[in-house]
Amino acid sequence: MKNEEIYIENQPVLTKIFNKIINSGNNTQGYLLFGESSKEIRNYSLMLSKILICPNKYTSKCHKCNICKRIDNGNFPELKIIFPENGMVKKEKIINLRDTFNTKSIEGENGVYIINDVESLNSAAANAILKFLEEPDSNVVAVFNTTNLNAVIPTIASRCQIIKINNIRTSYGIGFVKELTNLEEEDIYNVVSFVKKIEFYKSQAFAELKKDFIKNFDSKEKLNSALLVMLLLYKDMLNYKVKNKSIYFEVNELKTLAQKNENDVISRKISFILENMEKIEYNVNVLLFMSNLLIGIGDITDGKSNRN
Ligand SMILES: [Zn+2]
Repeated sequence: MKNEEIYIENQPVLTKIFNKIINSGNNTQGYLLFGESSKEIRNYSLMLSKILICPNKYTSKCHKCNICKRIDNGNFPELKIIFPENGMVKKEKIINLRDTFNTKSIEGENGVYIINDVESLNSAAANAILKFLEEPDSNVVAVFNTTNLNAVIPTIASRCQIIKINNIRTSYGIGFVKELTNLEEEDIYNVVSFVKKIEFYKSQAFAELKKDFIKNFDSKEKLNSALLVMLLLYKDMLNYKVKNKSIYFEVNELKTLAQKNENDVISRKISFILENMEKIEYNVNVLLFMSNLLIGIGDITDGKSNRN
């Protein structure tokens, strides 16, 4: 049976890690989430807590699940959320936490405590937490949050799986495309030049497809990334035409492409690519799949309806 996967927009790494925990279980005592916006990090640590605790394999539909619902309402006792005050988390608080989790049986998959602003902890507080982190065979998991990774006490950081939360607002441009697709810049520009050939020199596109493209994008995952690049490129053509600026690519990369296509044509190409992305899962033959995509995109032109 196919596992249900969650998808977090603009967070490819987080999506991957979270799905791995959902489908193969947790294998670390501590996570350290860092990024620029503490509000965003707190949201994701709450989500991570649900994933760690939910006994029904957390899904996006978990608003119906009793435990996740109680977490959302802030009244699930096996999730503790702690804010240090003046760099302090009282030692007693940690010991208490430990006793609570150790003495009663746990209702969820794991007990979880979140410590916000972990960079502000002094070493006494950190030591108390370290003892807890090192407890063997524990199904209590720590989730630490910080906006300043360098200031986190190394003995804590080194015991955690460190997860970077992308800042959505500042990371547009090619860096954003890289993070979203997990592709190297070279691969991204290969896709861009491939799209140019689709638009202007179709026979060259077919030749490239058979030669380099199927070599470079030989897995479903990579193919999906390639289509994502195409999608962003067409979206950016529309950005350029409507708002006179691009978001993901340099204007000179897409200007002639944008000029060639009417807005309506671009929108239809975007929908077409999206439809095909959903089909990747069921296609094994990259060459056939991409040939159809290439023909399909070529067929979408002004005034004519595409073949469907
Ligand atoms: Zn749940």
